[in-house]
Amino acid sequence: MPQIDASPNSASVTSTPRTDGPGTALRVLGRFCGPTSPVVVWNPFDGTAAQVCATGGEPPRLLVGLGEPADADPEIVHRCATAAGREIAAGLIGTARGHTVNVSCDLAAVTAGALGRRRAVRIVTAAVLEGLDSQELSDPVTILLTGLPDDATTQAAVRAGTIEARAVQLAQKLTNARANQLTPTRFADRAAEIAQSSGLWFRCLDDDELRELGFGALLAVGAGSQEPPRLVEVAYLPDKDDSVPAAIALVGKGVTFDSGGLSLKTPSAMTGMFTDKAGACVVLAVMSALGELGVRVPVRGYLPLAENLPGCGATRPGDIVTSLSGKTIEVVDTDFEGRVMMADALAWASRANPAAIVDIATLTYQAMIALGPDIGALIGRDEALAAQVQRAADTVGEPLWQLPFAERYRDQIRSSAPGVDLRNHPGTDVGRALTAALFLAEFVPTHIPWAHVDVLGPTLRGSGPDIRATGFGVRMLIRLIESLQDESVEQLRELSQ
Ligand code: MN
Ligand code: MN
Repeated sequence: MPQIDASPNSASVTSTPRTDGPGTALRVLGRFCGPTSPVVVWNPFDGTAAQVCATGGEPPRLLVGLGEPADADPEIVHRCATAAGREIAAGLIGTARGHTVNVSCDLAAVTAGALGRRRAVRIVTAAVLEGLDSQELSDPVTILLTGLPDDATTQAAVRAGTIEARAVQLAQKLTNARANQLTPTRFADRAAEIAQSSGLWFRCLDDDELRELGFGALLAVGAGSQEPPRLVEVAYLPDKDDSVPAAIALVGKGVTFDSGGLSLKTPSAMTGMFTDKAGACVVLAVMSALGELGVRVPVRGYLPLAENLPGCGATRPGDIVTSLSGKTIEVVDTDFEGRVMMADALAWASRANPAAIVDIATLTYQAMIALGPDIGALIGRDEALAAQVQRAADTVGEPLWQLPFAERYRDQIRSSAPGVDLRNHPGTDVGRALTAALFLAEFVPTHIPWAHVDVLGPTLRGSGPDIRATGFGVRMLIRLIESLQDESVEQLRELSQ
């Protein structure tokens, strides 16, 4: 079992502006390129975004390119600071000093002009720590942010960035855990521990309870595995009041392994399918951070967990299953399992009547075909909520692009079997990200604003056995929740009408 613990690395602000902290082992200096910036050209370093160049001196220096000043946005700053963190970590591999390594870093101060101090400090802190966490280091590293006023604003942003980095790392480690390490049952046990340590309300429905309650769709996805499905529910209740409806509910796809079921994937398509639980991992990681971040609104998280295998008892192509909502689903293709199990989780989440629901899932390959490996697809039935999700993504620099909620394609999710409501396979090989969203929307009553985030591309890096998770979506969802403290979805809808 891999260790899934918080990183020992940390960040803080030095009280003396633009100097090195005590015992500094490395100085990280950010440099813009372009006509208006004091670019340092140090062959081969020219300040291009995310370029890093180590130089000599005492302490040694690491130059980090930030690109053109006019282009500096949250995503670019995050990418540059992550590159810096990775380079710091790479330079420290195998060195054991027996004490904390201090690294002074001016990236937040340099980018504060473009992003504003609060945002720059938070993004740089989270990103450098994320980069550092790419390696297991023998000594903890403290990033000393220099060149900044050491006031409450900076301190709060450093703290928030540190908490975010921990949540991103948790999502990565959970997603990277292999299918035999995090079965639905073990995942639920792990979620219970995380809920306990982060002060979350917790409930796990086991397979007997799921059967009694009528989770026919979730059970159908796990029917071919000896590992029974689970539905984990966690709640962040700042007022300790379980009866208050959540300001938002998050639902994350948790397929702990997707073999395709009887509609079996090819061996190469199956490699890395232990990551098909990334959505659930992201939701759990976000929930784990809310208390420390001091969020003031109640939030609920739902993790439908199942293993999609073709074993004895597996759902067959053509089987009709009755979902929790009462709607019937014709399972045309058992590899289109994500939407089937999400159907029950969305219906269950809706019963608690949250003010909004956002789901996140590695759902369709076609979202990645449309938007490439970096950009996630956002599809909203509610424009105000979709705009709020988009703003959160833009603010933190996790790129999302909105695709249409295309009701014109509704025919593609209707079953032609007599008396059956829906089918899980659209019957065509185009527009599948859109029809998947239409399918999911069937399980959220129209009075609840709902948006869907399809993230196969940006969730994973590398290929084959070297695939690894990015934790994409953690920072966006945290920002979304924070934004709901100021404006509820209901208020936004009224404003936009
Ligand atoms: Mn599948
Ligand atoms: Mn899947």
